[in-house]
Amino acid sequence: MWSSGDTIRFRYVRDGRAFWTLPVRVAADLTTELALWIAPGTRVLRPDPPRVPVSVLAAGTWEPVGTTWFGEGVLMLRRPDTRHSLWLFWNPDGTFSRWYINLEDWWRDGEGVDAYDHLLDIWAHPDGTWEWKDEDDLAESVDAEIFTAAEAAAIRAEGERVVAEWPFPTGWEEWRPDPRWHVV
Ligand code: MG
Repeated sequence: MWSSGDTIRFRYVRDGRAFWTLPVRVAADLTTELALWIAPGTRVLRPDPPRVPVSVLAAGTWEPVGTTWFGEGVLMLRRPDTRHSLWLFWNPDGTFSRWYINLEDWWRDGEGVDAYDHLLDIWAHPDGTWEWKDEDDLAESVDAEIFTAAEAAAIRAEGERVVAEWPFPTGWEEWRPDPRWHVV
């Protein structure tokens, strides 16, 4: 278990390579959830622009470059035995904005957390509305043989399961990072 305030390595992996690599702060490491904070201004190694076409993913011709996390910070919640994470976004004035259901597999090792993104995501709003993001990418990924049709169906089913469960609010909406957590 990590302690609140620890800095750990977070990665997205793809084809056995690091697709994104960045340091994140552990906000909480509980048996029920792991909460990780991406601070504004964090240095990130990832393809730029970050949205990589499915054809490039399939060809494996992407290259990570040094970039800086822009916008407000993000809190990522990972709950055991799920195939997604919940991302919390805030407005520049510090008020809560909305959630992002990031469909992905994730796992932890001694040094940090790794994840494999499933391309399809969901925006979820405090008024109870939601919408798919990048459905076209998931469809293309089946044509490109990144996922089988059965895998794509399971990814979508996980999204439908989370929306039906509607795990919002998460309890973290009023949370703010410790001001002593300088950018790492
Ligand atoms: Mg995603």
